[in-house]
Amino acid sequence: MSVPAHAAPHPETLSSRVQDATGESVFNCYQCGKCTAGCPLAAEMDYAPNQILRLLQLDLPEMVEEVLGAFSIWLCLTCETCAARCPQEVDLPRIMDYLRQESLRRGLVHPKAKDILAFHQAFLETIKLKTLHLLQDVLLAPKLMARGKLNPLPHGIAGKEAVRRIFERCGTGSLPVDSGATRVTETHPGDAEGSGT
Ligand code: SF4
Ligand code: SF4
Repeated sequence: MSVPAHAAPHPETLSSRVQDATGESVFNCYQCGKCTAGCPLAAEMDYAPNQILRLLQLDLPEMVEEVLGAFSIWLCLTCETCAARCPQEVDLPRIMDYLRQESLRRGLVHPKAKDILAFHQAFLETIKLKTLHLLQDVLLAPKLMARGKLNPLPHGIAGKEAVRRIFERCGTGSLPVDSGATRVTETHPGDAEGSGT
């Protein structure tokens, strides 16, 4: 949303950096509290979602550590409930995401959030492909092959001949007569018509 002229943030403040990074102005929030009322984790947070925005609106230097050191920003699930309820269309999850990055960058992560942070990092590791660093581990391949940890060929399986015979039988639609098994014949819709059964 656009920023009212009277509420434009100072270019050096945290609120201005939030706006540069996310396109969201914290000054669009008029503190109605609907975000907090719908947030599933508000009760566990040290600052409720609307309070995080209020701290940002204050734009005081001493509030920067308060916001970036808050446990709340790490509890946020990015569930979007707050954004869906907000009459001002403030994208709070996006702001929370930026605050986490900034908290990490400045070494202000809340001590209780260390486990959550470890989870975030493990998750990011699993989606490395999204960064398109597709060949970053390729130089490890020769070493892994030498140790038998990486095989470019597919594994063989036991009983290949038995599997081949199963496929052959499925292909003919019947089991061999000499197997002693019940004969299985392919049927089609309408086969039963006129059979009298
Ligand atoms: S719902 Fe929107 S306007 Fe209301 S307090 Fe939350 S962010 Fe601010
Ligand atoms: S996105 Fe975060 S702040 Fe918003 S409702 Fe969900 S958990 Fe709460």
